[in-house]
Amino acid sequence: MPLKSLAEYEQLAEQAHGHLCAGQILGIRMAVYGLKLLGLADPAGADRKRLVTFVEIDRCVTDAIPVVTGCRLGKRALKFRDFGKVAATFCDLERDRAVRILARESARARARELYPRMSTGNQQQMRAYRELADEDLFAVQWVRVALAPEDLPGYKAPRAVCAQCGEAISFRREVVREGRTLCRACAGQAYYTPL
Ligand SMILES: [Zn+2]
Ligand SMILES: [Zn+2]
Repeated sequence: MPLKSLAEYEQLAEQAHGHLCAGQILGIRMAVYGLKLLGLADPAGADRKRLVTFVEIDRCVTDAIPVVTGCRLGKRALKFRDFGKVAATFCDLERDRAVRILARESARARARELYPRMSTGNQQQMRAYRELADEDLFAVQWVRVALAPEDLPGYKAPRAVCAQCGEAISFRREVVREGRTLCRACAGQAYYTPL
């Protein structure tokens, strides 16, 4: 199954995300560009297992990326790094290369210049993000991403058990403190406090 048209992806993104917005179009364009730069034309078929994507923000744009790449959190092929940037890195595991794509800040201003008569920023951006060239929308950086075996899809190993709370831990996320095997929460990294 080769890449779909922008219009087809827009429909799928609207379903997945709940509405069609400028972020969906930007995310679709970003992912299609990433695949193009990596030379991967069949993310849903033949290239299904060779792609891992890192996303750097939890906003609209992020939801559009799995629609194109097929990389999902539950498949371990989508990695979230909370850097607050509209950027994503597309990694080709087979050829061991990766490209990071950042949305240019100037794209918003370009949208305003191009369509000053449209009523909202979102409308200006939706139109401009469909039409602007990849180079005008994005900055590209070839990068190296060190992925440990336990970070890859398909990794299998026995689970650890936390010596303090007794909960099971997958993918080598346990930590050893003074000879005790602990989960990250019991090791002091909890994001919650038991009531
Ligand atoms: Zn949205
Ligand atoms: Zn624990």
